[in-house]
Amino acid sequence: MTRLMNINITQLKDIQTPCYLYDMKLLADTLAAIQGETAGHDNYHVHYAVKANANPAILQAIAAAGFGADCVSGGEIEAALRAGFKAEDIAFAGVGKADWEIQLALEQGIGMFNVESTEELEVINELATAMNKTARVSFRINPNVGAHTHAHITTGKAENKFGIDMEDMVMVIRKTETMPLITFTGLHFHIGSQLLVMDDFVALCSRVNELQDILDSEGIRVPNINVGGGLGIDYDEPDAHPIPNFRAYFDTFKQGLRLREGQQLHFELGRAMVGQMGSLLTRVLYVKHGKQKQFVIVDAGFTDLIRPALYGAHHKIENCTATTKDTVVYDVVGPICESSDVFAKDLELPETHRGDLLVLRSAGAYGETMASCYNCRSLPNVKTI
Ligand SMILES: *Cc1c(COP(=O)(O)O)cnc(C)c1O
Repeated sequence: MTRLMNINITQLKDIQTPCYLYDMKLLADTLAAIQGETAGHDNYHVHYAVKANANPAILQAIAAAGFGADCVSGGEIEAALRAGFKAEDIAFAGVGKADWEIQLALEQGIGMFNVESTEELEVINELATAMNKTARVSFRINPNVGAHTHAHITTGKAENKFGIDMEDMVMVIRKTETMPLITFTGLHFHIGSQLLVMDDFVALCSRVNELQDILDSEGIRVPNINVGGGLGIDYDEPDAHPIPNFRAYFDTFKQGLRLREGQQLHFELGRAMVGQMGSLLTRVLYVKHGKQKQFVIVDAGFTDLIRPALYGAHHKIENCTATTKDTVVYDVVGPICESSDVFAKDLELPETHRGDLLVLRSAGAYGETMASCYNCRSLPNVKTI
């Protein structure tokens, strides 16, 4: 009998596809693993990056476990508050915050704005003054450390649109001293995503230490350091590594960062918290025997899971209902009218037939949240178990 994680596939026989399947037990185990690694460090605060998966059931589970939220839009702030995250545990990041989003965040009294430019600081100051509300502000500093990952998901290099140049750090902090309703609360960094080797985080720690030394010499106190997210997951072997190596991750910061007395350390994990607990189920519509290739055409497309089309990402694909071990090499493609709608090329699968149920693994992060209605398609179904 085929099992998918802890689920018996026969239970899914009649499921309406395409459908995201969320394993809430694995989510709970993942959250517990993070809590295990941060236990005894009362100054560590883990915020969940809502953009990875904003499904209400998932947000509620993460909020109930006591995590904070990292939001990048007004809609995400609203979703986080609805799910039960406390306003003071919400950080609001993003290069392009609209006025209404800043006003919403001020009205709700969120924990901190992660500010990405002096221009943004000035707008927050204007809006806070007009509302007579205090804004707690951290600056996202571009540490210029290169994350060894896909170019589209590297964010910490000088050529990226994110963050404030290191040379301007003291200047922007000084600027807040002239703004009565702006409270400088800390420094924020985020170097990229899907990082599996710790080297880039080690480099980030050294850079944070250097910047802290500069601020010490300027007499500037930094209450909060936020090192962002980016810890990756094993897309190739999800069953071997259903829970990421949180020990190695947190140890890197425990060893690498020289925190000052009373300083709070914040993390913003997205993919590592929810990536492995999600799978995309899809049915085979046709097996097309082309001249050069065999195509498995499934009912899910890039409107349901765009990572392969957008980043060339690979998700492990399994046939849950195959009846033979004899394999055939296929291209697995979706129904969307774009040639980029391909989930896998030259993939060896057990001989596959119309009606078979396939699963794309490790689809809990940046899957459902990036779904679209292109081609007038419906959004994917969701089932939590
Ligand atoms: C996307 C994002 C994260 C989460 O990234 P992951 O790679 O999913 O951990 C954290 N912080 C900020 C500012 C982000 O934009």
